[in-house]
Amino acid sequence: MTSPRPRDCVSQIPAYVAGRPPQPRDGMTTYKLSSNENPYPPLPGVVEAANRAAEQMNRYPDMGNTALYEALSDRLGVGVDHLALATGSVGLIYQLVQAFCEPGDEVVYAWRSFEAYPIAVTASGARNVQVALLPDGRHDLEAMSAAVTDRTRIVMVCTPNNPTGSSVTQTELDAFLAEIPEHVLVIVDEAYVEFVRMGDAVDGVATVLAHDNVVSTRTFSKAYGLAGFRVGYAVGPTSVATALRAVSLPFGISSVAQAAALASLRAESELLARVEALVAERDRVVQGLAGAGLTVPDAQGNFVWFAAGDRTTELATAADELGIVVRPFAGDGARISIGEPEANDRIVELARCFPLDR
Ligand SMILES: *Cc1c(COP(=O)(O)O)cnc(C)c1O
Repeated sequence: MTSPRPRDCVSQIPAYVAGRPPQPRDGMTTYKLSSNENPYPPLPGVVEAANRAAEQMNRYPDMGNTALYEALSDRLGVGVDHLALATGSVGLIYQLVQAFCEPGDEVVYAWRSFEAYPIAVTASGARNVQVALLPDGRHDLEAMSAAVTDRTRIVMVCTPNNPTGSSVTQTELDAFLAEIPEHVLVIVDEAYVEFVRMGDAVDGVATVLAHDNVVSTRTFSKAYGLAGFRVGYAVGPTSVATALRAVSLPFGISSVAQAAALASLRAESELLARVEALVAERDRVVQGLAGAGLTVPDAQGNFVWFAAGDRTTELATAADELGIVVRPFAGDGARISIGEPEANDRIVELARCFPLDR
């Protein structure tokens, strides 16, 4: 007997390595800095809204996500027809590859970047074309546009880049878009857009509205602190939004998640205050690291990158000893999320007790 055989690409899908939770240690609070989560509890009113929605769990969610679409449309100043919601921006990336790539089509993106990209691309039967980052952790946009062939259907720009933290500027993005053929879809992954504080920062919505082939993906997981509820959205041309909705999983976003996202949008002033505090902590950490002799790539997200190379596994062990769990990428480096102030002090301590640059 032969058993049913999955498509060949299925066995080639790389595993997603989720950030490890901390182990309890005697006499020490331990912190999870391995998944770029928001250390704050839900915004005011969010738990109450989620609880109210949970009372209706015998009913299907609003499949049209009507209230959430309207709130996002108001907030962003774009029509609902330019928006597509999904189960996290990971869901959006899967759906974009599914909607735009035939088997064998090429998807170009920087590497190292977000680990969901090779998973989504491989799962769809498309081909991964990875373009090495510059030594300072930034995208090599010139090499990326040179990597576009007549099989390329999608190019992804992750800004700020997970895990290195650096962002592209609007000027760089504009020059890049001018090089990309109009039939190639450019995904600008802006999962950390709320944390960006740099000159000439990308205006994702304006960029989308100025092009027919650019889509921005965003998420409630990071700044909004709803990682556990799985809500992301795309802003794009209506043709792209329509395609995304067509391939979406019906009833994907639960009613509890819809209610929580809506309540989070309503708590904007508290959100902005928290993001400001995290940005201040990030900048304090970057300065502390510099004081300890470690220069990290320009950190524009809620995380910093230690380019530890061959010593990455050792670095992760040293972090464990200090009671912080980081996200190591063996042979490459470790990504460390900005968390509670006490946890952030230990990031600086890690640089002191495990010197990399000297
Ligand atoms: C965290 C992250 C996402 C999204 O996560 P979801 O929880 O699926 O919304 C998307 N892109 C990057 C680069 C990320 O780091």
